[in-house]
Amino acid sequence: MKYDVIFLGGGQAGIFGAYEAIKKNEDLKILVIDKGRMLTQRVCPKEKLGWCVKCPTCAIIFGVSGAGAFSDSKFNMDYRVGGDVHVVTGKAIVNDTIKYVADIYKEFGFDEKPTGLEYNQFMLDIKKRCIETNVQLVDTPTMHLGTDGSRELYTKLVNYLLEKGVEFATEREAEELIIENGAIEGVVVSHKGKEEIYYSSNVVIGMGRSGAKKLMDICQKHGVNYETGAVDVGVRVEIPDIVMKDINENFYEAKMIYYTQKYKDRMRTFCSNPSGFIAAEKHGDDVVLANGHAYKDKKSTNTNLALLCTKTFTEPFNQPFEYATAIAKMSAMLTGGKILMQSYGDLKAGRRSTEERLARLNIVPTTEDYVAGDISLACPKRILDNIIEFIEVHDKITPGFASSDLLLYFPEIKFRSTRIEIDKNMETNIKGLYATGDSSGYGSGLNIAAVMGILAVRHIVEK
Ligand SMILES: Cc1cc2nc3c(=O)[nH]c(=O)nc-3n(C[C@H](O)[C@H](O)[C@H](O)COP(=O)(O)OP(=O)(O)OC[C@H]3O[C@@H](n4cnc5c(N)ncnc54)[C@H](O)[C@@H]3O)c2cc1C
Repeated sequence: MKYDVIFLGGGQAGIFGAYEAIKKNEDLKILVIDKGRMLTQRVCPKEKLGWCVKCPTCAIIFGVSGAGAFSDSKFNMDYRVGGDVHVVTGKAIVNDTIKYVADIYKEFGFDEKPTGLEYNQFMLDIKKRCIETNVQLVDTPTMHLGTDGSRELYTKLVNYLLEKGVEFATEREAEELIIENGAIEGVVVSHKGKEEIYYSSNVVIGMGRSGAKKLMDICQKHGVNYETGAVDVGVRVEIPDIVMKDINENFYEAKMIYYTQKYKDRMRTFCSNPSGFIAAEKHGDDVVLANGHAYKDKKSTNTNLALLCTKTFTEPFNQPFEYATAIAKMSAMLTGGKILMQSYGDLKAGRRSTEERLARLNIVPTTEDYVAGDISLACPKRILDNIIEFIEVHDKITPGFASSDLLLYFPEIKFRSTRIEIDKNMETNIKGLYATGDSSGYGSGLNIAAVMGILAVRHIVEK
């Protein structure tokens, strides 16, 4: 079967790319291939049963609409957050395209004034404390859909694509590329144990973090140029809302970057969820990662956010993906396949957390997918030192942060260890093959994934 454009991965980059293709030319024959299911069929058995049955393809991670479907969907309106594709495209085009994506959100019923545009006294005070502690506050306007709101929006968008004749081939996993004379000709996918081939001279890859490892194998095999990138390892912390009140009510999310004094490593806050919930991200039995989200209507009394350490390795080591996976496996080994959790008080006291000790705190965890234990048994010293230093600095900006009530869920890992060589049109060294979103190594958020999908399609249509 031959298509004008194939999207390999039906996540944020894929569906916004498909939207753009249809907008530019309704007659294009478009196929979206995804390892998971259609959005409406993405049902996690845990919702009914209360426990994880370890589906071969996790409905939370894989499927049309991608990681965004169950995400809290904070949509950031600035090129500085959500990735760094601007290093290849320039800043203006990224910001313009972000605005364009926000207009698509509006078209499908989501219209919210971004927070963080006007500064009040609380915000000025927070900014001053950041300056005093050498923390960079990346204060950019953000819209917040909520986990429920994003699902509604993506359902409308996918229905629109279906109405316009976009085809979806789900439960199909990308296996191989077909390349002739340095140009893409098609893709080979596996479906229920059988091989299928789909042809196109334009293939847009957007396989997300969940497909990053597979994509790296494909790149190696087919001569797609890439370089070894960084990996983000850290914890997701949970703290009573009351401690985060000033930040939550005024910024919703305050993105902070800090270079530690001890190692000069880069630490950052990521994906803050006021009144949110901790989530377990299962990449198989032995890799279980901490994450978090927040609903528009359903609220907890805790805020969760990630504290991540960006680690780039120098020669001869070139396997950051495997390194981070080994950390996750060590943690899952200790917990029997759950997230490892410890209170900051217990970490500082050098003892494991237990349910009995946790019961003495002011905070109640928003998940049961954890085992109370000792993070220092699984987290490399350098990363743990960086986390502790960042927590103490955060405490000066947000008094109460470094309290015993701070819960640390380990590990939170952002796999973006491969950085595919792309030009300003997202095209790789293989003609007609485009790399977008998280799996390209240039994206880490909804905004940049959508931008990259759209820019790739604009180039295809221009051609
Ligand atoms: C819990 C959670 C909360 C988040 N919250 C936010 C937030 O608030 N704001 C924000 O900006 N970002 C957030 N993110 C990140 C955001 O969701 C991603 O950056 C974004 O979805 C990336 O888009 P993408 O298209 O690159 O990949 P994805 O959306 O992950 O889509 C990748 C697609 O590829 C498919 N796939 C994977 N492997 C294969 C394969 N081998 N063959 C075929 N298909 C494959 C997957 O099924 C998936 O549909 C969150 C992520 C998570 C997990």
